[in-house]
Amino acid sequence: MLISIESVIHQAISDVSHELRKLSLEIHDNPETALEEKHACYVLSRYLESKGYKVEQGIGGLETAFVATYISTSGDSGLNIGFCSEYDALPLIGHGCGHNLIAISGVAMFLALSKVLDTCSVSGTVKLFGTPAEEAKGGKIVLQKQGVFEGMDLLMMVHPSAAFCGNWHSQASLSMTVEYFGKSAHAAMSPWDGINAGSAATIALQTIGVMREQLKPDWRAHGIIADGGQVANVIPDYSRIEYTIRTGWSGELGILRTRILRIFEAAALATGCTHKVKEEHAYLDNLANPVLAEMYDDIMSVKYHKQPDCNVGGSTDFGNLSHSFITLHGMYDLAGTGVPNHSKEFAKDARTKEAHERTLFAAETIARIAARCLADKEFWSKVQQAHKDM
Ligand SMILES: [Zn+2]
Ligand SMILES: [Zn+2]
Repeated sequence: MLISIESVIHQAISDVSHELRKLSLEIHDNPETALEEKHACYVLSRYLESKGYKVEQGIGGLETAFVATYISTSGDSGLNIGFCSEYDALPLIGHGCGHNLIAISGVAMFLALSKVLDTCSVSGTVKLFGTPAEEAKGGKIVLQKQGVFEGMDLLMMVHPSAAFCGNWHSQASLSMTVEYFGKSAHAAMSPWDGINAGSAATIALQTIGVMREQLKPDWRAHGIIADGGQVANVIPDYSRIEYTIRTGWSGELGILRTRILRIFEAAALATGCTHKVKEEHAYLDNLANPVLAEMYDDIMSVKYHKQPDCNVGGSTDFGNLSHSFITLHGMYDLAGTGVPNHSKEFAKDARTKEAHERTLFAAETIARIAARCLADKEFWSKVQQAHKDM
């Protein structure tokens, strides 16, 4: 039974490899940042419709989100399984996180599982969620709050990285924008009349630098002065910092948040500025289901003759889903070169044929795990038990 399901999955994905490659390059060559992914959303939706699937766009109030659904002809009595595609790019770097590949991996898993439901006498529902804005603005968190994932038994996705790992424990993170408001003045004629908002930004970053001594090894604090003033001969009356903090566990995020907010306030006080902080949605740490993660690692270890390496930092809005649903967020090695995410080199690698093949294998692995959850009741019970024990 399982051998036949595996070959159905393999064939279903091989059959569309060429078309998926075209989709992937189309998205890669037209990078769009968070919530601007109109073209990616369009080409993915049209492709799924061309295959005969019903696609609903603009779900959860996000214009560039979509869901495609397939229910087995034998009814919807089985599991509700959902896959996530991401397709947002990074400013200036483009697809330096390989989300063009995550986009097609989701399509591959969805098509393969639909085929399994069609031909292997198992019943259930499979959905592909097009989830925008992962790099910023927490698209999945918005969709979750809007109830888009309600009723799902299992949610899965894959992400390219520099190593493979099923049991990836991501960092919790919180991004924020801090603005300082001062008073402009001529920098030579009457600097004493000004209130320097640029100085407030400088003091804030310097003070965080001093605080660094007391951060835990898996905590991170990183950011930029996005606006520190415009010209040298004017005391700037405005500055803006874009900042992100991360901690190993979601429960620690509030501790670091309190410290950092105090620093931002102190910089305002020290310079006489006023300030405003706008916080984004917090990304929770990712908690993989250990039974699903083990199966993922087993298949990948055999394929690549390596052991998993989960020593990868970073955060994902999928982490929030892992706190409410049975999930798996599989990492896979994009190129075998060790190049890190969020680099121009990674963006280049995300366009290669090698990366395409590795993506489809990761997608096939996830589809096999999903199919096992559908067809093997004993395995599914173990997965559920592991979730309860987490
Ligand atoms: Zn990224
Ligand atoms: Zn990413």
